[in-house]
Amino acid sequence: MNIISYSELTNKEDGKQVTKGINYAIQKNYSIVLMSTLDNAPYNDRIFDTGIIEYEGHNVPKNESSNPEMVDQSLLRPSGNPTENGKFFKEVLNFKQGLREPERVQVYRKLKKGIWVDMGFYELIDAYEKSENLRKVFKFLLKPVINVNQSDNSYLDILHDRKIPGEIQQEVYKRDRGKCRICGSTNNLHFDHILPFSKGGSSKVASNIQLLCARHNLKKGAKFI
Ligand SMILES: [Zn+2]
Repeated sequence: MNIISYSELTNKEDGKQVTKGINYAIQKNYSIVLMSTLDNAPYNDRIFDTGIIEYEGHNVPKNESSNPEMVDQSLLRPSGNPTENGKFFKEVLNFKQGLREPERVQVYRKLKKGIWVDMGFYELIDAYEKSENLRKVFKFLLKPVINVNQSDNSYLDILHDRKIPGEIQQEVYKRDRGKCRICGSTNNLHFDHILPFSKGGSSKVASNIQLLCARHNLKKGAKFI
């Protein structure tokens, strides 16, 4: 899981300015969502123990309500066109009816202002309505896509990298001062399990997670093979 600045994020997405939470079909073959599990996050996004993300839909825009956090979220604009929530809902419906493959979604998770964690690709597999704080919100389930040999433990280790809780990521980033613990580089940083999950290491304590640059992350990985 790469840690990147917003400008690196924009470069990676071919210069596309990703500013909204849900960016449906912003790229030819996939959508992009921005998520946050920080305490002051505007939305209630969660990561389950299975690695699946429950992603909250958009509020209505400020020009449609003076209190977007208090009113029901919507699938349609006043014009009758679908909102981003509506477009995601339709994708799930089509997928469930067997009409198409699940929508691919690239997820970026906010670590702090201007700093993002590249969570990789997910599949949009479900959508539902929930009642929260006396209003209607939409929730979307995103299932991690992991392209490694599933017969070995690297699958589990990569999945567990994606499940490091937001507060642990923040604590580790702060403790390691945004630098690789081995060489001090601030480029190409990753969250690394000191003891991999497959060897019994935990994702839920900062003492088992460290920042490493790509070079040292790869070197370390080789040792465990
Ligand atoms: Zn390094």
